[in-house]
Amino acid sequence: MSQRDLRTVAELAGAELEGAHPTEVLRWAGETFGDRFAITSSMGDAVLTSLAAEAVPGIRVIFLDTGYHFPQTLQTRDRVATELDVEVISVRPHLTVAEQNVKYGQSLYGRDPDLCCSMRKVEPLNRVLRGYDAWGSGIRRDESPSRANTPVVGWDSRRGMVKVNPLAGWTQSDVDAYAAERGVIVNPLVEMGFPSIGCAPCTQRVAQGEDARAGRWVGSDKTECGLHV
Ligand code: SF4
Repeated sequence: MSQRDLRTVAELAGAELEGAHPTEVLRWAGETFGDRFAITSSMGDAVLTSLAAEAVPGIRVIFLDTGYHFPQTLQTRDRVATELDVEVISVRPHLTVAEQNVKYGQSLYGRDPDLCCSMRKVEPLNRVLRGYDAWGSGIRRDESPSRANTPVVGWDSRRGMVKVNPLAGWTQSDVDAYAAERGVIVNPLVEMGFPSIGCAPCTQRVAQGEDARAGRWVGSDKTECGLHV
C-alpha cells in the first residue's frame, strides 16, 4: 500500500473502531497488514501483548533494550517470550552504555535525556519499524494529559505509517481487571509502586493519586521519550 492509501486506511479505521474492544482492533490490524504489523511493549505488563497473542498469534513484539532496564523488566520480557504465542524482538542502540559514556560522558540521561532517549529508544525503534506498515502500542488516554487525545487508530506522520493504540480508551481499572481476570504477566515493579516503567535511572515510584507517568524523568519537564509524538 502507498503511504497515501495507508493514511486513508488509518483515518477510516480510527473512526470506525473508536470504542471497539482492543481484541477487535488488534484483529483488524492483523487482517489488514499481516506480518507488516508489529506491536511494541515496555514490559510493564503483558496486557497488550496477551491480547495481541490471542488476536494475532505469533505477532512480533518489539522491545527497546536500552541497556538501562531494571532486572525485573528483562525478566518480564523473558517470561513473555517463553509463555505467550509471540516473537519478541529486542532492539539495541548502536552504542552500548559503556561506549556512550566514553563518547558523551557518564550519566547523559541526567544532563540531556532527550539526546539519550533519541539514541537509545527513538533511533532503534525507527530502524526496526522500517520493515512495517503499522505498529501498535499500549498507550492510553488516562495515563497523562499529553496522551489524552490518543486515537485508537491514527497516522504516524513522522514515520509515515499507521499507529494502532488498542488500549487508548481503557482506564487503569480496565487494565487491572483484565490482568487479574486473565492472570496476565505483570512486571513485579508495578506492585512496588511503579505504574509506568522505563529505564531505571529515569523511573521513580509515584505517590497515590499522581498520574501513572509522574515517576518518569522526575525533576525535569520531560514527559515523553519521543516514541509517541
Ligand atoms: S529513559 Fe533515561 S536512560 Fe532511558 S533512554 Fe531515556 S534518558 Fe536514557
